[in-house]
Amino acid sequence: MRMLLSTTAAVFALAACATTEPTAAPAPTAAAPAAAAPAAPTVATPPAANTLPFARVNDLGQGISMLIGAGGNLGLSVGADGVFLIDDQFATNAVANLAKVEELAKGKPKYLINTHYHGDHAGGNAVFAGAGAMVFASDNARKRLTGETVTTGRFAPASLPPKVAWPVVTFTSGIDFHLNGQTIRAIRAPMPAHTDGDTFVYFVEADVLHTGDVYTKDRYPTVDVGAGGNQAGFIAGLERLLQIAGPNTKIIPGHGELATKADMQATSDMHKSARAAVEAQVKAGKTLEQTIAAKPLAQWTPRFGTQAGSDDTYVTIIYNELKK
Ligand SMILES: [Zn+2]
Repeated sequence: MRMLLSTTAAVFALAACATTEPTAAPAPTAAAPAAAAPAAPTVATPPAANTLPFARVNDLGQGISMLIGAGGNLGLSVGADGVFLIDDQFATNAVANLAKVEELAKGKPKYLINTHYHGDHAGGNAVFAGAGAMVFASDNARKRLTGETVTTGRFAPASLPPKVAWPVVTFTSGIDFHLNGQTIRAIRAPMPAHTDGDTFVYFVEADVLHTGDVYTKDRYPTVDVGAGGNQAGFIAGLERLLQIAGPNTKIIPGHGELATKADMQATSDMHKSARAAVEAQVKAGKTLEQTIAAKPLAQWTPRFGTQAGSDDTYVTIIYNELKK
């Protein structure tokens, strides 16, 4: 059953993700794989709220799983010390996700970390915290959730989540968890990228890395400028992720299928080349309209332009950033 948005939490979830995250907005069911989702228009009419739980579980070994559904990818660690979860998708499917996590983990999540504030990653906080999870996030992600830092621009949420959804433990550079035989290392992105509060999570012993939305597989990025996002931050963030990852690291991107270091390297190369290509247009004195028309990202669009218009959007972001 699908329901229309009616709660403030749901409005928050939609506002943060509807046009932000390519896989979140158009998916008619949670079962639709990210890559198979139809191309969404840049300005979408609000989709019906997703109430289905994540659809697939990818077992990565050592009690760690990647949970894949319509919103951001989740990371799960299950073991003797309790259930640890990375992100929780939408407010609207949080009850269903909680039930499915409990079934899988044979217990409720004890620790929950948000990679950033968006409603398709942190939208379920209220439900999970209400069930006993302690919520962790970067200081800036918490400020976005509480409204202490006001988010502007096209991804600004229509309303803020309730207090129960706010992270209770925050960090500025990182924090380590010692659970389930793992060192679970939360690492802040070196500078604002997708937002101003991005966090990566690395399971050291298992060699599994959750990147948040600083890395999304085979698609142009979403740069949430109204939340401090910055294209240069994607270049710096990917550099950092490539330092963390080894040749065999299992990479859980913010959206998309399980990835490798080589996939991430290709994305890093694209970001740098895209910036250089747009910079050449700026230096040639081209207007934004002329730059978009010149299609400077044409050689990367077959791989990364899986969402219609996303190349033009990315060009616009880079152009405006370079003209600042
Ligand atoms: Zn996001």
